[in-house]
Amino acid sequence: MAYDFDLFVIGAGSGGVRAARFAAGFGAKVAVAESRYLGGTCVNVGCVPKKLLVYGAHFAEDFEQSQGFGWSLGEAQFDWATLIANKDREIQRLNGIYRNLLVNSGVSLYEGHAKLVGPHEVEINGQRFSAEHILIATGGWPQIPEIPGREHAISSNEAFYLKSLPKRVLVVGGGYIAVEFAGIFHGLGAQTTLVYRGEMFLRGFDGAVRKHLHEELSKRGMDLQFNADIVRIDKQPDGSLKATLKDGRELLADCVFYATGRRPMLDNLGLENTAVKLDKRGFIEVDEQYQSNEPSILAIGDVIGRVQLTPVALAEGMAVARRLFKPEQYRPVDYQMIPTAVFSLPNIGTVGLSEEQAREAGHKVQIFESRFRAMKLTLTDCQERTLMKLVVDADTDKVLGCHMVGPEAGEIIQGLAIALKAGATKRDFDETIGVHPTAAEEFVTMRTPLVN
Ligand SMILES: Cc1cc2nc3c(=O)[nH]c(=O)nc-3n(C[C@H](O)[C@H](O)[C@H](O)COP(=O)(O)OP(=O)(O)OC[C@H]3O[C@@H](n4cnc5c(N)ncnc54)[C@H](O)[C@@H]3O)c2cc1C
Repeated sequence: MAYDFDLFVIGAGSGGVRAARFAAGFGAKVAVAESRYLGGTCVNVGCVPKKLLVYGAHFAEDFEQSQGFGWSLGEAQFDWATLIANKDREIQRLNGIYRNLLVNSGVSLYEGHAKLVGPHEVEINGQRFSAEHILIATGGWPQIPEIPGREHAISSNEAFYLKSLPKRVLVVGGGYIAVEFAGIFHGLGAQTTLVYRGEMFLRGFDGAVRKHLHEELSKRGMDLQFNADIVRIDKQPDGSLKATLKDGRELLADCVFYATGRRPMLDNLGLENTAVKLDKRGFIEVDEQYQSNEPSILAIGDVIGRVQLTPVALAEGMAVARRLFKPEQYRPVDYQMIPTAVFSLPNIGTVGLSEEQAREAGHKVQIFESRFRAMKLTLTDCQERTLMKLVVDADTDKVLGCHMVGPEAGEIIQGLAIALKAGATKRDFDETIGVHPTAAEEFVTMRTPLVN
């Protein structure tokens, strides 16, 4: 049977654009549908605008620290509207780049909501198209729990477009998005409280990293409320919000921001017209090659709920394009050793196993740790400390995990990720000559393991 397209991709986000471009590059006839914004979450309401706001928030510290180096500045003023307008301009530029990338690679772009009407058929703007393969790359959407007053709360989607910087913010959640936004609001001058129902934020990260960040954020005056949960939100006559906690305490704020998880974006997607199945958590179930229960339909990225990060969606998109149209170049995505950063202030960078994960997996571990005040701070009053940690397998000498809390941790960990992926041992680290004077050299100069 002749189809209109070899591949029809639903969603022009990180994964969808990558799959579409490469498939077209391999000679396939490809279409992409996008209902909201080119570039998807990452470009519009995720990684990119978030990082720009983090840069914005960091200036507060830079101004303060510059005084130790002889600079004197007048009173610093911050204007939220300028930051948001400039951020919006940059995102528009990126939307244009994504449009050009798709069009120039020969992909047909359809702007509108796409719905599956069968295993090989998609409907968009009243038009129907057939395709041999359909790729669902529709991403995720923030979830706010069903509590009374939830309509007064915002998610990351709205935070990027607030008209003004709230004076008091309650950030709810313990994942990386909550921690990052707490840092943004706090750095820009809002009185910020982070409310998390668990014992300690950043579940899954190394215990020392979580504790270190906790200490650093507390030192900076961020109010961290763990084992706390909001049960209702009430709007006050003066327009402010009152959040009532489970234990009866009441917190007042001008903005309540939820970052308590993301659901797969499946709204009106027409899955009922296909045999696509969902897993227990409600994400699209796929096999190792991203094929759903419907043989012609594949899915990648946040909508399959594996590792919800842009570089992972990109790798999955690439794997799908290769498998379908360039099988001789196909390589499965390696989900081990995925490096990640949390752009909290200070940053976290991490790759490989945490100490807890390594022990749980049965490794006999040696731990190397270093805590220090960065050289840049020695001329300032800032007491921030950096943490670096290596988790090493005592039997094989292999480095199982590298963890850091401190300036540019994300930048530093990227290089270490290559070393770990290549199977570096502690001896390789020891025999690597440091770059002096840097903080990063500490990773190759830690000699004495902690006593267990
Ligand atoms: C606040 C925030 C910060 C983040 N920071 C980072 C970070 O620092 N680093 C990192 O690696 N990751 C980060 N992420 C995660 C990252 O953004 C996602 O993992 C990534 O965007 C997933 O890509 P995707 O292709 O699966 O989906 P998306 O990028 O979400 O793209 C899905 C696209 O599909 C479209 N769509 C949905 N349904 C339809 C339909 N029926 N028809 C047509 N189009 C449709 C959507 O409009 C969207 O454009 C962040 C996420 C958030 C929310």
